[in-house]
Amino acid sequence: VVVCVTGASGYIASWIVKFLLQRGYTVRATLRDPSDPKKIDHLLKLEGAKERLQVFKADLVEEGSFDSVVQGCHGVFHTASPVLLHVVKDPQSELIDPAVKGTLNVLEACKKSPSVKRVVLTSSICAVAFSDRPKTPQVVVDETWFSDPKFSQTMKSWQWYTVSKTLAEEAAWKFAEKNGIHMVVINPVLVAGPLLQPQVNASVEPILNLINGKKFPNNSFGWVNVKDVAEAHIKAYEIASATGRYCLSERVVHYSELARVLSSLYPTLQITAECEDDEPYVPTYQISQERAKSLEIEFTPLEVSLKETVESFREKNIVNF
Ligand code: NDP
Repeated sequence: VVVCVTGASGYIASWIVKFLLQRGYTVRATLRDPSDPKKIDHLLKLEGAKERLQVFKADLVEEGSFDSVVQGCHGVFHTASPVLLHVVKDPQSELIDPAVKGTLNVLEACKKSPSVKRVVLTSSICAVAFSDRPKTPQVVVDETWFSDPKFSQTMKSWQWYTVSKTLAEEAAWKFAEKNGIHMVVINPVLVAGPLLQPQVNASVEPILNLINGKKFPNNSFGWVNVKDVAEAHIKAYEIASATGRYCLSERVVHYSELARVLSSLYPTLQITAECEDDEPYVPTYQISQERAKSLEIEFTPLEVSLKETVESFREKNIVNF
């Protein structure tokens, strides 16, 4: 069976490619720059890559870029989207266009290819949890929630990334429904766990910051293991009854808890117990695991995910202790 993974060099996508190859699929991987060894070498080394990995050049913002790649594919995993969590100069061109137009570009290619039976879209909890609905430790966020881009713009961090993911998922649902595309959406929280790619990606950066002794932000986020996220994508494709959205979160914690867990795992590190501000801690909340469990996902505990992330930093000489 031939499937396509867009943005294949990315943190999550690399694990999806690895698991697909392990399961015997032929994988068409799209990258912006397949000649960049930092983006491609780790994929070429995967088990089964020699026999069943095909590499294609494609860019989200180039119309028609994905047309030939998805021809003949049975499934398409659309993961490519810019993950820029910090301040950006031009949100429209840096985040919103590639997220929204890119997603529609990929779906348009799928519409033109009758071989494509299912699309799995990597959305985010950012498209779910950020609206004026209050979040407290008792509140359970689930897949019926949808973020409000107006609210997201007022958030103290990740505003434009959140807007881009929300608008992209919204546009994707409209397009899929209108054109009869069977789409399943995955909505992960912050992803941690081992890196296959050589460089540090945005979601593990907060862990590196803590190791480097920085004060932690006053915020609460969910965390999930990258292998569970990759597995969920494949299950969402393989399980015939999979439909709609699937939130993926092992646990929501305040950064102070993340720092505490890291300190207890690595007592010799100078991890600070200091917050960036003196405000009351932003409360945690819950995220429903019910639908994720119907995909047969058993969540890896946060402690294990953090340990795997740090060990991966060590192996790649990103940290030296
Ligand atoms: P990475 O930054 O590792 O990967 C992002 C991928 O998107 C890269 O392969 C990148 O390609 C590609 N991309 C970005 N812009 C373009 C473009 N204009 N054209 C083609 N490709 C492009 O991030 P993650 O693996 O973390 O993220 C993957 C997906 O998962 C994203 O959709 C993200 O929003 C989503 N997600 C991530 C979470 C996390 O915590 N990590 C949580 C929830 C959702 P290139 O290598 O060429 O730069």
